[in-house]
Amino acid sequence: MLRLPPFQYIAPRTIDEAAQLLADYGDQAMPVAGGTDLYPNMKRRQFTPEILVGLRGLRELRGIGGDPAQGMTIGALATLTEVANHPAIRQFYPALAQAAGLVSAPQLRNVGTLGGNLCVDTRCNYYNQTEFWRHSIGYCMKKDGDICLVAPGSPRCWAVSSSDCAPALITLQAQARLVGPRGERLIPVAALYHDDGIAYLAKQRDEILAEVQLPPAGSWRSIYRKLRRRGSFDFPILGVAAALRQDADGTVRDARIALGAVASHPVEAAEAAQMLEGQRPTPELLEAVAAAAARWAKPLDNTDLTINYRKQMAPVYLRRVLEELLYEQ
Ligand SMILES: Cc1cc2nc3c(=O)[nH]c(=O)nc-3n(C[C@H](O)[C@H](O)[C@H](O)COP(=O)(O)OP(=O)(O)OC[C@H]3O[C@@H](n4cnc5c(N)ncnc54)[C@H](O)[C@@H]3O)c2cc1C
Ligand code: SF4
Repeated sequence: MLRLPPFQYIAPRTIDEAAQLLADYGDQAMPVAGGTDLYPNMKRRQFTPEILVGLRGLRELRGIGGDPAQGMTIGALATLTEVANHPAIRQFYPALAQAAGLVSAPQLRNVGTLGGNLCVDTRCNYYNQTEFWRHSIGYCMKKDGDICLVAPGSPRCWAVSSSDCAPALITLQAQARLVGPRGERLIPVAALYHDDGIAYLAKQRDEILAEVQLPPAGSWRSIYRKLRRRGSFDFPILGVAAALRQDADGTVRDARIALGAVASHPVEAAEAAQMLEGQRPTPELLEAVAAAAARWAKPLDNTDLTINYRKQMAPVYLRRVLEELLYEQ
């Protein structure tokens, strides 16, 4: 049985207190929300914080408010089940409801939070293993080692961003409100990430993700679909989020496409999406857009299934998702 390492759990009452604790304890402390990502990682000794700053008691991080006409606010502690089942999110921001509803299994969605999902650790076959397993192969630079075992000549880590909700929120042009000891700031969700498997978050260590803000829904339609081995349970090997709005004659006015699980950060395929704008979609155009977006999917041998399968499936899957958004929703 894998056991948690010893740690002290502190339950602050306000977000300011939580941020100050993170600042005071520095590298020794981490925030925890649902714990569905962090606790398993601690059991495998990928993280061994001495202090856990528990966010679950912070009422100001709870709740889903606003309305689709003015924009909506989702507290970072909203569970994935709450997000997936919320009637207005399901109707007006379907990509997000679908993404939240496709994370893992019901038990995890009942506990796992939206904030935790956006901050979820990057993944790699050489890293998501027990301490014993990692010790036996000499570790890698993401934890305890000094080389990348997937790309040994590489100076960086290529662990994969596996959040389902991040690409969906990027296509919906959501913003993240971060609160730290030096104040708060609002940034696009896309700006939360670095292209680096180790330092994958652009937020400061002592900043807490307080909420996600969705813009007015307008006439945008959206979709999120994920490719994975077991449909009931697994992380994505490819996540596809797309959003668009069309004029009355079917011409696409604006389009956005974002991909998950293809790099160390969620990737916005902006040039591919722009190919749709000003056009009435045809099968040939969708094929070309899917092929352009799939160029971002350059898989390494560090996640599930084979590189060849993932590479070949990317344009096929992208085309299917775009067709579903345009013709079946
Ligand atoms: C078997 C299994 C399957 C899974 N499948 C999927 C999947 O298919 N797709 C997917 O996206 N995820 C998956 N996950 C990962 C995880 O369950 C979810 O991402 C979940 O939403 C994480 O939320 P949490 O509240 O439990 O995060 P936690 O475990 O509490 O935290 C995760 C990380 O975020 C940080 N953090 C949490 N909240 C905040 C905040 N408000 N501000 C700043 N930092 C914060 C923590 O310090 C930690 O680094 C899976 C996990 C397991 C164990
Ligand atoms: S990509 Fe390389 S450095 Fe990063 S976790 Fe995998 S093996 Fe380790």
